[in-house]
Amino acid sequence: MTKSPPTTTNVASECGSHDPDLLASCVHCGFCLEVCPTYKLTGDENNSPRGRLRLWREEAEGRLVQDPWTDFYTAECVGCLACESACPANVPYGEIFEQVKHAHVATGRSKPPLMLRLAARLAARPFLFNLAMLPARLLRQTGLLRHRFLFPGRPAVLQSTADYARQLMSQHRPTGPRVALLTGCLMESLFREINFATVRVLIENNIQVVIPPDQGCCGAFQEHTGMAGVEALRTNNRQAFGNLDVEAIVSNSSGCGLALSKGLEGTLPVRDVLSFLGEQTLVSRPRRDQGTRVYVDLPCHLIHGQKVAGIPTHVLNATGYSWELAPQARDCCGSGGVYNIQKPENSREILAKKSAFLNQAAGKPVILATSNHVCMMQWNSARSGGLVTKPYEVRHVIQLLDPGETFTIRQPS
Ligand code: SF4
Ligand code: SF4
Repeated sequence: MTKSPPTTTNVASECGSHDPDLLASCVHCGFCLEVCPTYKLTGDENNSPRGRLRLWREEAEGRLVQDPWTDFYTAECVGCLACESACPANVPYGEIFEQVKHAHVATGRSKPPLMLRLAARLAARPFLFNLAMLPARLLRQTGLLRHRFLFPGRPAVLQSTADYARQLMSQHRPTGPRVALLTGCLMESLFREINFATVRVLIENNIQVVIPPDQGCCGAFQEHTGMAGVEALRTNNRQAFGNLDVEAIVSNSSGCGLALSKGLEGTLPVRDVLSFLGEQTLVSRPRRDQGTRVYVDLPCHLIHGQKVAGIPTHVLNATGYSWELAPQARDCCGSGGVYNIQKPENSREILAKKSAFLNQAAGKPVILATSNHVCMMQWNSARSGGLVTKPYEVRHVIQLLDPGETFTIRQPS
């Protein structure tokens, strides 16, 4: 928290879009304070869920003028939703926070950086986004693309996940439950190898995979930044997914799955792919090298957003690895969608506390496994940013279940 809050000005409140009933639902008990990463860093009440809710309510009800301090404390929030899980009064903090962020951007009180504004526009056009990211995919595939957030991987450069799934489905012809896969924007354009692994794991476990061609961005990017356009994206996905003959839509990214579930409310269930697999009989990988140790971290948008208890033990055991939950597995890593770009210093401080254990972690090699690509990027930055000096790999849990690319070479007889 190194940046100083701005100077106060007297401007009339413009937060007319806040839902007053939601804002009034906080009973000020303070149970949320101790789970809030920004309150834990600063000890500042205004930097807590209760403090932010109070500022927004005071302003909405006209007792506080529009104030740059309110803008400052709003921007400090990671959006981890830990406060929702801790709240005995069921205050829908995430919904309120989204309303506030959208109002702040719409009225010019805050402005996402140009890079994020451009990325959000591109993400809303999957074809263009995939095309624009082709050179980055190629460079990542060859190991030449270096950035502190980019964990190593070898994505297919030209073949899409939809094409790959069609090919694998026709080779293996699974007969079990039928699901649709959300392939995502950044996942498909840059981290496609995780989508491919997801398709292999599902099909190996006799699950039929459908990939609707017209699916688009889930809207998470717009929700994180407060930018407009969420409703159009939700409408598009209701058309793409809403009438499918599938048991569920599965997502391998907890943030995207949460955003899609809001858009598809009342239609099909959106499930985290690992939770869905936890209800199936799984092919287990052979027992792995006993020296390897997997530390499992739980994404905030999985446990606090989707309200899933965690990653099923049954799934983690099927990886064949010796695993344990990472210390503070239920605490935020500081990624927060785009928080690590918008508030890099805060994000790094939060990550420093959480990742410190890796410097002494038992195991050789050490694997940090989670289930959200944005958290994977954040964990990778702990090593590349010098917070952790001991080597470790960052993997998605689905990659630990993956039968591998040899699964694809079975030729039809
Ligand atoms: S979403 Fe996270 S960072 Fe924001 S107020 Fe709630 S607990 Fe704190
Ligand atoms: S736990 Fe809920 S009701 Fe209590 S202060 Fe926090 S947001 Fe308000």
